Amino acid sequence: MADVIALRRELHRHPELGYTEFRTAARVIELLRSWGYDVRFGAEAMDPTARQRVPAAEVMDASFARAQEAGVDAALLDAMRGGLTAVVATRRGGDGPTVGFRFDMDALPVDESPEAGHLPVREGFTSAVPGVMHACGHDGHTAIGLALAERLAAEPLPGTVKLFFQPAEEGGAGARAMAARGVADDVDRIFCMHLGCDLPLGMIATSGVGFLAVRGIEARFVGAPAHAAAAPEKGRHALVAAASALLNVQAMPRFSTGMTRVNVGVLEGGTATNVIPHRARMLLEMRAETLAEVDELDARVRRILEGAAAMQDVAVEIEATGSMPSLTNDDAAMRLVRDEAEASGMFSEVRDTHLVGASEDAGYLMERVQRRGGDATYMIMGTTITAPHHHFAFDIDEEALPSAVTLLERVGRRALAGS
Ligand SMILES: [Zn+2]
Ligand SMILES: [Zn+2]
Repeated sequence: MADVIALRRELHRHPELGYTEFRTAARVIELLRSWGYDVRFGAEAMDPTARQRVPAAEVMDASFARAQEAGVDAALLDAMRGGLTAVVATRRGGDGPTVGFRFDMDALPVDESPEAGHLPVREGFTSAVPGVMHACGHDGHTAIGLALAERLAAEPLPGTVKLFFQPAEEGGAGARAMAARGVADDVDRIFCMHLGCDLPLGMIATSGVGFLAVRGIEARFVGAPAHAAAAPEKGRHALVAAASALLNVQAMPRFSTGMTRVNVGVLEGGTATNVIPHRARMLLEMRAETLAEVDELDARVRRILEGAAAMQDVAVEIEATGSMPSLTNDDAAMRLVRDEAEASGMFSEVRDTHLVGASEDAGYLMERVQRRGGDATYMIMGTTITAPHHHFAFDIDEEALPSAVTLLERVGRRALAGS
């Protein structure tokens, strides 16, 4: 059996940013194939048009070149060209349900700590890529997913297992790109997880909560410049339009249906006191508990932006800058995790909820399953961390890895048996 800690260290040594996980995905594909999975990747595993924040060509090319130098199979790389780094593995068994597990593979633009006290330094597996680091634990997630795949391949299954290895969780909406391709549309139950999130080693939460859906907007107001004293009436004041839009966006009512947030975080424009400003730029974000509420906020914000622009006879271009869905955990899936966590005897404490308070794109895959009447949960596996997530000195306690694999195997077998 693959050593989950050794796998994690190997992945940690070669971190790749969202949509550049060429080497990681190739390793995942090769291992899954060797265990007999039907493996889909590239355009078969994701819809490239549903991605967001795809990295610049030079970032993508550098990672692609590193994978080539590392000897990654040319046919695999070719299928992933342009950042198509999602992987879906299926193993069919009996007529039982289809059970999915989702793991993210991307790293962050963080320079890893060289301090001697940092375990990857002590054990010699620090990032080999300057400026890129697995600082969120996704190396651990991928390793857990692979070890789980091998365990589930060891004997016949009563149902079908589908493993989703997703790119670009950190702001890239990799899960949305996979969901848009329909890869989760035959899944009856999906389990997602994160290591850490301030839950210490030995503990587990059957659901992470506090994720708000978020959407960003960039608005560019375009008016006409003019001399502020000689001919102000010939100008069209983009900054007045933007300023009045800001006040009205901030003045929107809160919703009675759930928590909402809105914030104009950037407003800039103009060049000099004696020039009517003809350009202004605004960045804002909206958050809410459900996607429907975000859609409603979005529609209201757009009306305000267009109305404020119309008042000043100014044009406005509106662009979505990225989003994350909210996330709903189902009782039945949570109960199954609780039962297996308790029965395993591996955990000192099993909680039903743990407040995470970040954003997470797994909700895109979960929602696709839930929409068809299936259920889902996003669990938090405790591991004592050495620094906050995304910090250069972040590390997990690797002791959490083998127990996570064992728990997910138990959860998978029970879900596949239809209970
Ligand atoms: Zn993160
Ligand atoms: Zn993360």
